[in-house]
Amino acid sequence: MIFDAFKPIAAIATTPQSSQLLHPLCQSLRVTLYVPETLPLIDTVICHYQDSLKTHLATIWAENRAFIFCLATGAVIRLIAPLLEDKASDPAIIVIDPTGQYVISLCSGHQGGADRLAQLIAHQLNATPIITGASHGLNLPAIDMLGRPFGWRKGPGDWTGVSHAIASQKRVQVIQEAGSELWKDNLPQNHPFCFGFGEIGENAPTAACVSISVTQGRFAEASTIPKVQWYPRVLWVGIGCIRGTSQALIASAIEKVFQKYHLATEAIAGLATIDIKADEVGIVQYCQDKQYPLLTYSADVLNTINVPNPSEVVKQEVGTASVAEAAAIYGANYWFSDTGNREKNDLKKSLLVPKQIIKSEQEAVTIAIAQSELDYTGRQGKIYLVGMGPGSLEQITPAAKTAINQADAIIGYSLYLELIKPLQRPGQIIESLPITKEKERAKRAIELGKWGLSVAVISSGDCGIYGMAGLVLEELKNNNWDGQNPSIEVFPGITALQAAAARVGTPLMHDFCAISLSDLLTPWEMIKKRLEAAAIGDFVTALYNPRSQTRQTQIIEAQSIFLQHRNRNTPVALVRCAYRQDESIILTNLGEMLTHNIDMLTTVLIGNSSTFFHQNWMITPRGYHECRM
Ligand code: SAH
Repeated sequence: MIFDAFKPIAAIATTPQSSQLLHPLCQSLRVTLYVPETLPLIDTVICHYQDSLKTHLATIWAENRAFIFCLATGAVIRLIAPLLEDKASDPAIIVIDPTGQYVISLCSGHQGGADRLAQLIAHQLNATPIITGASHGLNLPAIDMLGRPFGWRKGPGDWTGVSHAIASQKRVQVIQEAGSELWKDNLPQNHPFCFGFGEIGENAPTAACVSISVTQGRFAEASTIPKVQWYPRVLWVGIGCIRGTSQALIASAIEKVFQKYHLATEAIAGLATIDIKADEVGIVQYCQDKQYPLLTYSADVLNTINVPNPSEVVKQEVGTASVAEAAAIYGANYWFSDTGNREKNDLKKSLLVPKQIIKSEQEAVTIAIAQSELDYTGRQGKIYLVGMGPGSLEQITPAAKTAINQADAIIGYSLYLELIKPLQRPGQIIESLPITKEKERAKRAIELGKWGLSVAVISSGDCGIYGMAGLVLEELKNNNWDGQNPSIEVFPGITALQAAAARVGTPLMHDFCAISLSDLLTPWEMIKKRLEAAAIGDFVTALYNPRSQTRQTQIIEAQSIFLQHRNRNTPVALVRCAYRQDESIILTNLGEMLTHNIDMLTTVLIGNSSTFFHQNWMITPRGYHECRM
């Protein structure tokens, strides 16, 4: 569930009207709704609060990550004021007006997630989200959220100062030395960032600085402008040790080496070592405490890596001339995928710190550090397979809107991405691929999903009907997908045949079928067989992909197959661009349908033998007795 990221959530209503408004929302989100004792408990999601709301709120404050109030904003402000501590830890506060028209992100908009939660709830209620954060208004990513999708750790800094500079559209210098640059791809044209060192002082003075790097204390210098630090997790610590080395020595050795090389431990992605150390208590415990992944490789694998400081002694002992350096390099290059085709000789360039030996009386640890190009996100990725309906925003389900708005990345065909632009959130990664590149789109979604991002793959209509959903699942199957990573959720949409039918009446009232005339992925003989069967079976038939610039004859053959089994006067609707700005609708019949424009944006609806037109409506009777077979 998309809302799980915000849970536990508590909702609060004080009047019958507000309770009625919040109840269905709480039911669908499975969230507790607290009401005063004077209101009835009509459902198990509803709970009474005793005493005053103020006292009750204080008792449930710490255990919830978000609160949804249906109460006057003034009252909410007074209630929460004594409980607020720090924007890094305060819960998200949402206020919904009693008519359910507006969803206000009141407090903890960025880090607490209130801005996003407000948008998601607004989609559910078909309400307007009210988001007052400056970066949102400027269509810029919030600087204190920038690295979230990529798993970056937040370092020190004057976050408020930098946010203020961005909101005031002052020049903000960004020095990025590590980590994903995908966040830059969709910045609005007039964004305030300047990149790198080179541009400083060239134009206007810089008002703030954002550092994205693996080194500590970059801005100790005298400059007084506000600065913040993000640490992408790209450092892999290769480690070897004498059996039984304590966790304490391991921890202090890593600290020491990072200090010596001015590297930030926040940038650690994980540890890597030889497989015989997979049960080394000190290492395992250290990783567990720090929540670092521990990668282990066989001596044979490590032996393939060219290292600067090989050791004959180590080779004699464990079968590879290097543990720490080789494991660090291997981890940094292949933690994500073992199938990289990078030249093994190039790999050693990723080594930042050659092996360092730290000893105590009986213990010894060897440490080396390598830098990966790809950030370790530490997140479980998700792919949302989303059907966006025929075109207009009103025809998208609230669940699909929520998925689109929530995703870290959106992948789709550019025309569709344009149509759903109002649903996008500042800072989202948007990737469009040309129309025939569906497979590449699926592959890219899987790549981002496996990496740890949430990715919405957009199809028009329903994603599972001649859409992207099947391609993604097929591709996952080909990759030996474990069913979990990335996780998958499918969001249905109104498919073209439903949209087209709704615009002309009720043609699909009886048994119907859909046939795509595209023979790019299906043999034409097979399509012909299905056309014939549909015609014989007297199915109302929706033809998808009826004609393209390169496929002109299929629709002609389809018509002649139908004419063999159905009357020339059989009603036919040609619906082009249903629910889009350039919609056009033509009501015709089987005999004459080809005299009109039919293209790839058209759905052809062929009635059954009982279908008729009345007052420009296409109607297929519901009653079985009406069917004339
Ligand atoms: N997944 C989509 C279908 C994609 S196949 C869905 O469920 O609707 C593409 C075909 O769908 C087009 O060639 C056209 O036949 C039909 N189509 C898609 N959107 C349409 C629209 N808004 N109006 C009419 N036909 C449409």
